[in-house]
Amino acid sequence: MKVQFLNLARLHQPIRKQLDEAYQRVMQSGWFVMGPELSAFESEFAAYSEVRNCIGVGNGLEALHLLLRAYQIGPGDEVIVPSNTFIATWLAVSQCGATPVPVEPLMETHNIDPALVEAAITPRTRAIIPVHLYGQPADMDPINEIASRNGLIVIEDAAQAQGARYKGRKVGSLGHAAGTSFYPGKNLGALGDGGAVLTNDDVIADKVRLLRNYGSTIKYQHDVAGYNSRLDEMQAAFLRIKLKFLDEWNNRRKAIAAIYSQCLGGFDGSIPCVPDYADPVWHLYVIRSDYRDEFKAHLDALGISTVIHYPIPPHRQGCYAGSGYKTLAIAECLARQVLSLPMSPDLSDAEIDAVINSVKSFRK
Ligand SMILES: *Cc1c(COP(=O)(O)O)cnc(C)c1O
Repeated sequence: MKVQFLNLARLHQPIRKQLDEAYQRVMQSGWFVMGPELSAFESEFAAYSEVRNCIGVGNGLEALHLLLRAYQIGPGDEVIVPSNTFIATWLAVSQCGATPVPVEPLMETHNIDPALVEAAITPRTRAIIPVHLYGQPADMDPINEIASRNGLIVIEDAAQAQGARYKGRKVGSLGHAAGTSFYPGKNLGALGDGGAVLTNDDVIADKVRLLRNYGSTIKYQHDVAGYNSRLDEMQAAFLRIKLKFLDEWNNRRKAIAAIYSQCLGGFDGSIPCVPDYADPVWHLYVIRSDYRDEFKAHLDALGISTVIHYPIPPHRQGCYAGSGYKTLAIAECLARQVLSLPMSPDLSDAEIDAVINSVKSFRK
């Protein structure tokens, strides 16, 4: 049996009629940017995320970038980021002219280690961007405590974690503000690019609203040098449909993760660990193996497709060559060991069994 890593066409099949209707509604309206679908989605997603403001933007990278701009973070400033994350977390900082300062993750959770944050703070540090990687919430209480003691802004990168909870509270509501992404493969994905800023801070929300739309609130009047980064009407309409299914889909992900964890306990490697504070939404189910490459080849040969998230940590990417980053042993070790198993709400029970049997049949 072949198991695809992700099959979005299949995920959308049962809701195709509703998506088609959303398309018809927007197409017929003739209004494609900054209209009623966006406003409605923003209210709905703010309510879902348990925050006062949601501002739809072009993508997840822009959500983080516009937030850093709204906080006036720029050249000479430092922003603490996890060493183990998707490159966008770092690029948002670099795009502002500020410097990403990496902090290593906990090996067990793959998320930023709060115990190492304090040592990375300098007089130039302005903000911390914890990432809820793979849909697992980062340990926010100690991070918020360190931030408040040092006068730092906390911006959550919630791109992989829509719906996850930390001690009962939704991610995206835990810091000063958050950025999220609706890239198609995310737990809440558009049918194209999209992103959003979430915040309880009305002043920051207004600044982001200004920045995403050419620095303009009155048409053709530009008070600040803004950007063009808006979530369009078509994507907002699709996201309104998909938001209705997000909890159901996240629950199916949780069920799949529970089966994986139960059946893979004896496997020679390690399976994800879930701390008491976390109610994760399993954007990815990431296992680790000392024999990762052989293991991936073994699964490939059996028709099980897997992906490595991520093979090269940001500080080792060509775009940061010459930036003087030193060895980050944990991030580099994870890059050698991690492997993401198929994870999607539409996986069938037979496909899950095939994944489990293939994993168990690996002999190093
Ligand atoms: C996907 C992702 C982003 C960026 O989102 P885009 O919409 O692709 O720009 C940022 N951070 C993390 C952790 C992501 O996974």
